[in-house]
Amino acid sequence: MKYIDEFREKRRIKGILESIRRISTKRITIMEICGTHTHTISRYGIREAVLPNINLISGPGCPVCVTPPGDIERIIEFSRRRRDVIIATFGDMMKVPGRSSTLQDEKARGGDIRVVYSPISAIEIASSNPQREVILYAVGFETTAPTVAATILMAERKGLKNLSILSLHKLTPPAMRALMESGEIDIDGFICPGHVTAIIGAGAYEFLSREYSSPSVVAGFEPLDTLQGIYMLVRQIEEGKSNTEIQYSRVVTWEGNERAKAVMDEVFEVCDTDWRGMGTIPSSGLRIRDEFAGFDAEKRFSIERIDCGEPPGCECGRVLKGLISPPDCRLFGSVCTPASPVGPCMVSSEGTCAAYFRYRSVVQ
Ligand code: SF4
Repeated sequence: MKYIDEFREKRRIKGILESIRRISTKRITIMEICGTHTHTISRYGIREAVLPNINLISGPGCPVCVTPPGDIERIIEFSRRRRDVIIATFGDMMKVPGRSSTLQDEKARGGDIRVVYSPISAIEIASSNPQREVILYAVGFETTAPTVAATILMAERKGLKNLSILSLHKLTPPAMRALMESGEIDIDGFICPGHVTAIIGAGAYEFLSREYSSPSVVAGFEPLDTLQGIYMLVRQIEEGKSNTEIQYSRVVTWEGNERAKAVMDEVFEVCDTDWRGMGTIPSSGLRIRDEFAGFDAEKRFSIERIDCGEPPGCECGRVLKGLISPPDCRLFGSVCTPASPVGPCMVSSEGTCAAYFRYRSVVQ
């Protein structure tokens, strides 16, 4: 049965590729805004399969990668200064290089830095260490923010006083707007992130068609989904249309998840925030509302903002804007590898450089 399914899937993939080639008459650039799409595209050789007419580029779709160097450095510095505080964070953040070390290095030197797989785990850590302060170093897009918001509500209900959150959450649509406004790159259409859109709803991208005449399609992550999404975009572009469409309709709706959005809105408010390589993007971040100031690590501790740039030679900022692809970075695959990453795009499981490196053999 497995082989029959695989045979059928291969036939369908071939069929969609033929359909794309049949309708495609000009060279276009499509950007995907999700690290999981980047990995699907790299893993299944989709980028190469749709050439030469379709140029697939990757955008700022990895939350670890878009966290600016200063926000990486300041938690590393804080962990050095405050060994008494437990820092909880997601696995990929441990290995992102700062100026002189990583959280993983700091842990090896005696820092109490713990990996959590869900923000809720921070509650367990705080509950079982009532004499110590616990900071959840929280990065993520709209997929993570509702769970972090729920964590804060739960901590409040439990009366926890020793848990706080350093909120570095980012919002996807403002980054897409910033790319369109930058004038640095011509993008003919977007493959929008499936998981993020399950929360915010496909309606969040309507501004792309209304203000920039740019089509967008919310696609799923199976190779067939992603290819189907590319086909839907090419069809719109060839027909001169610029709508927001949903390919991933088994998960995504136009309105999104109202409950998740309400929880997020109860705890967070929108603010300007910095993105790696993109500078400050208006209304693209989430900070904790004053009502929950007791859970805001920025207000409870002095975690000074640090001004610092990319690691020397690292081009992550330009990779995240789709201006170059990872092999254009002279460190790619030589100095910078997943075993010895120079920038976050090679660290994260959703990073563009990591995807290109990992699946190099697919296209060689
Ligand atoms: S290959 Fe490494 S150094 Fe170059 S942009 Fe990617 S992460 Fe940065």
